[in-house]
Amino acid sequence: MPKTATNGAAAFVPGDRSLPVLRKAVQQCHGCDLYRHATQAVFGELETHEDATRPKVAMMMIGEQPGDQEDRQGRPFVGPAGKLLDQCLDEARIDRDAVYVTNTVKHFKWEPRGKLRIHKKPGMQEIRACRPWLQAELETVRPRLIVCLGAVAAQSLLGSKFRLTQAHGEIEEVKGLPPIIATLHPSAVLRARTDEDRHRSREILVADLKRAADYLKHPQRYNKCSMIKAPRQQLPAMLAAPQTALPGDNPRAMVTKKFGLEDLEVHGDREFYRYGNAIFSGRLEAVLLHSFNGLVV
Ligand code: SF4
Repeated sequence: MPKTATNGAAAFVPGDRSLPVLRKAVQQCHGCDLYRHATQAVFGELETHEDATRPKVAMMMIGEQPGDQEDRQGRPFVGPAGKLLDQCLDEARIDRDAVYVTNTVKHFKWEPRGKLRIHKKPGMQEIRACRPWLQAELETVRPRLIVCLGAVAAQSLLGSKFRLTQAHGEIEEVKGLPPIIATLHPSAVLRARTDEDRHRSREILVADLKRAADYLKHPQRYNKCSMIKAPRQQLPAMLAAPQTALPGDNPRAMVTKKFGLEDLEVHGDREFYRYGNAIFSGRLEAVLLHSFNGLVV
């Protein structure tokens, strides 16, 4: 079968799954049309161990696509978003050298605006076409945890119904993949309209990265619990409770008491609860929403 721009990347991915071989082969990929207007494909990498054939790293970070700088330099996360990511990793005490960084789509999609090349979000077809490269990276690097940066990466692995605003920072399970945690893309922080929004987004990104680091240290704390059952109709009351708290009340204590959740501890920015014989973790609202909607259990 001829290798055409409609067939996706599968025909271009070599059987040898070592990173140097993959990195070389991706430059020949015509799996979709994005290669036509990009300088080069940008494959994933480790900050160090550049020659590592099959590195064993704990964390793989997946962004959306290369930006203008990445396209010119041929390396992921070297532009302004990459610099911010480095700072946030540092704040979260994650060793940047031990993180494999890559993108969902390997070629830069852009549109001209004057002399500038403006980022254009990749479409579903391009994301699907490029998936074999990401799959090859996952099989080669074999991370213990995937961190999706931004909605494009998150939805490509967790499905189009995944909502980053509601479920960022939660550990998600997908059959055949390592656990996944999704958070904001650093470029979304940079694009925030006000200083206040930028500050808040940055805090979310750092908090989620800290959670990812904590997961790698204490994975048992993040076991999803399928034992939490409570009547769906109680959800509005549960979520309304904090808003009806009187001044001086502790909303968390009110909710946990009312619904029989034992508030065990707060570890970092993560909360642990007991319900019957089950221990589960997460932010209270997210835990309740996920449990009631059956999205996670
Ligand atoms: S974006 Fe992916 S599938 Fe499309 S040409 Fe580039 S490497 Fe191939």
